[in-house]
Amino acid sequence: MDVSARLAEMGISRYEAHVEVVLRDINTDKMHRLSETKLPVPSLVGPLFDQLDTPLSAASPPGLHTSGEVKALQGLLQTFGYFSGAVDGSYSTSTKDAVAAFQKYAKITPPDGIANGQTKRALLRRRFDLNADPPADVQAADGAAAFTPPFTPGQTVTYRVGASPGYLPRAKVLTEVAAMMAQWANATHLHFVRLREGHRGVADLSISWSELREGNALFFDGPGGKLAHNLGGEIVLDSAERWVLRGELPEILRDAKLGASSFGLSAVVLHEVGHALGLVHSPDPSAVMFAFYDPTKLTLAQGDLTAARKLYGPSPPPPTHLDNQSYVQQCLAPTLTNGLKALCAERPTAPVEWLALWLQSHNPNRPVAP
Ligand SMILES: [Zn+2]
Repeated sequence: MDVSARLAEMGISRYEAHVEVVLRDINTDKMHRLSETKLPVPSLVGPLFDQLDTPLSAASPPGLHTSGEVKALQGLLQTFGYFSGAVDGSYSTSTKDAVAAFQKYAKITPPDGIANGQTKRALLRRRFDLNADPPADVQAADGAAAFTPPFTPGQTVTYRVGASPGYLPRAKVLTEVAAMMAQWANATHLHFVRLREGHRGVADLSISWSELREGNALFFDGPGGKLAHNLGGEIVLDSAERWVLRGELPEILRDAKLGASSFGLSAVVLHEVGHALGLVHSPDPSAVMFAFYDPTKLTLAQGDLTAARKLYGPSPPPPTHLDNQSYVQQCLAPTLTNGLKALCAERPTAPVEWLALWLQSHNPNRPVAP
């Protein structure tokens, strides 16, 4: 039962309300307290901030509403990597510092540590995922992770696309995912190969759909708080969201209501593959790796390229004039190795002649004859 409207009418915040349920037994007409039954105790849920435009600060009037909203604020700041103190509802100095650090990331001026309406809205803004933002002192960095990258330069990374939502044409889903992988491949010294449908081997990277309501810090502020979840090479997209392909994007973007309730597959995949490669959130708003969801960001920005190349080096340039030995070492050997891996993944029983043709058509470094 939704009681938000009634509470708003009465001018009461959900943080100030308490639920008391009394049940009437229809056979005996007797009344029972919920605690006398085995039924679960309901809890009040609702918007994290029900007074969006009332600023929160150490000077806010004390009370249940303030401490409830400060707790919500601390919880979000903790999830996004800005706050490590106790979620206790008290607007401490560390809470203020965390708000200021978030304001800097979200380009809110001045970063004064007061959670005003603009700051609360930015905290609730749609994000690709709940990965932490870079700490304030490394915000000048370009978003390359400090840890060891999960892959090695020159590696062929295999990937798998799990069962996609039935309303999306499968072939188009695979094409879009491949196009996004190709962008990272063109940017770095990495190759991507999709495991064929039904292949039982373990992929280095997987994309699948599942319900992500649990653990979604933004769930009660409507659908779309968090679109994806990533853990190592495992990318899980929220099956409760309406996913759209690139062809549908212009229509979606024209319609505010549709735009607010659907998500572009390509933009989310491009961002999440960045995490799988070891990139963290970029402080640059034009980067694909910026934390906030933007369906129109479909091309890696300079900052994304720099961060990815820091981990894997650039894509080797196609050879132009090579002697036979260099051609074999630099071009033919890697092409053959990657080609064979790809072919084994795609067509394990392909005949040799087909292999030769396939390699010829897939050779990205076709050289000028030496
Ligand atoms: Zn992210």
